[in-house]
Amino acid sequence: KRKGAMAALFTARRGLGACLSGRRRLSQLAELPETHQLLRQTCRDFADRELIPIAGKLDKEHAYPAKQIQDLGAMGVMAIEVPEELGGAGMDYLAYSLAMEEISRGCASTGVVVSVNNSLYIGPILKNGTEEQKKKWITPFTTGEKVGCFCLSEPGNGSDAGAASTTAREDGGEWVLSGTKAWITNSWDASAAVVFATTDRTLKHKGISAFLVPMPHPGLSLGKKEDKLGIRASSTANVILEDCRLPLDHMLGPRGAGFKIAMQTLDSGRIGVASQALGIAQASLECAADYAHKRTAFGAPIGKLQAIQFKLADMSVAVESARLLTWKASLLRDAGKPFTKEAAMAKLSASEAATFCSHQAIQVLGGMGYVSDMPAERHYRDARITEIYEGTSEIQRLVIGGQVLKEYQS
Ligand SMILES: Cc1cc2nc3c(=O)[nH]c(=O)nc-3n(C[C@H](O)[C@H](O)[C@H](O)COP(=O)(O)OP(=O)(O)OC[C@H]3O[C@@H](n4cnc5c(N)ncnc54)[C@H](O)[C@@H]3O)c2cc1C
Repeated sequence: KRKGAMAALFTARRGLGACLSGRRRLSQLAELPETHQLLRQTCRDFADRELIPIAGKLDKEHAYPAKQIQDLGAMGVMAIEVPEELGGAGMDYLAYSLAMEEISRGCASTGVVVSVNNSLYIGPILKNGTEEQKKKWITPFTTGEKVGCFCLSEPGNGSDAGAASTTAREDGGEWVLSGTKAWITNSWDASAAVVFATTDRTLKHKGISAFLVPMPHPGLSLGKKEDKLGIRASSTANVILEDCRLPLDHMLGPRGAGFKIAMQTLDSGRIGVASQALGIAQASLECAADYAHKRTAFGAPIGKLQAIQFKLADMSVAVESARLLTWKASLLRDAGKPFTKEAAMAKLSASEAATFCSHQAIQVLGGMGYVSDMPAERHYRDARITEIYEGTSEIQRLVIGGQVLKEYQS
């Protein structure tokens, strides 16, 4: 099975060069290139076969999906944008978005592990690392054997990321990091972290730098696993740094560039979260539509009731419109064009679509929507985080509003 999935992906990758040189246009939103259709179907089959049957169990047991992550690593999905010479799939961001949606449709927890490794951990290293850093900190993280994490938030600041209080000082030819990073996804399962710390507090956000930290490491410890509403099969915890010493070459990018690196990383990461939200919304729609066919009330399937059809129609519109925004953001990024506004729009609309669709799915299922025998209640719990992490919906609106004002400046 695994070999079959890999073969399909390799075929997709071979066709990608032709596809890229074919100058994809936004008009292709209506129909995906063949290579991407193949990738999407491969990930969809994987989700149907390997994720949907166990997602409820993983959620209940708070169990990290180690085997599934390794299988996804073998398929190239843990490092989609990484060039093949570094061990990745050498594909583009549209491919990443499609894979993320399909994986999250099967299991949103597995989706977040994939997204943090691809866009939050590998992403900034691929863009800002030296060739040596890329080999050392990316290649071992392409196979699914190891995953990384991204440490930006702190107990005292999340949305206001520029107010970082974790410090990095030079001492005896080493960096010494001290402080607490909060809410760190993958932390209990990670083998390395990109950590943001200030080298000069007087410079505020311009004093923040990024560091590469192996895990485990002396001076680094983990807080308790957070007991979360959703995405319960992924770990979230504080990462505590107490005089954590690192060689000088563990700085990522120039000194003081950390805030810029973090913001650029989140721009791209938001496309991943939008895709995760799309997967949850799509799964909710499928669950509701299937039940509408099977459940009878007053002598007929509830799908015959206009009240139910209207819910399915509204869910479908929310999913399709958010999907087009997400693909548009991916295509702009792949074309090297600005995509900050579109990524924020994609995340905002897809996360709200996920919350809306999972809420409606529970309503369509009635009592069966409220118990864990059916996946609707899990989708409802999983959806909620997509409106919070990598920038809350309020922050997305601030980003979009700021960009709109710039566009309409006279
Ligand atoms: C499960 C989970 C996983 C996470 N994973 C990671 C991770 O891997 N790495 C990481 O670094 N962080 C991670 N986070 C942290 C996450 O990114 C933050 O929780 C998020 O950015 C919000 O920050 P906060 O919780 O401090 O809320 P606050 O910033 O305190 O916001 C509280 C409320 O105020 C609103 N608000 C704040 N500022 C403004 C403003 N200027 N205008 C309007 N409204 C505003 C917010 O929208 C929100 O409604 C994770 C969080 C969770 C819950």
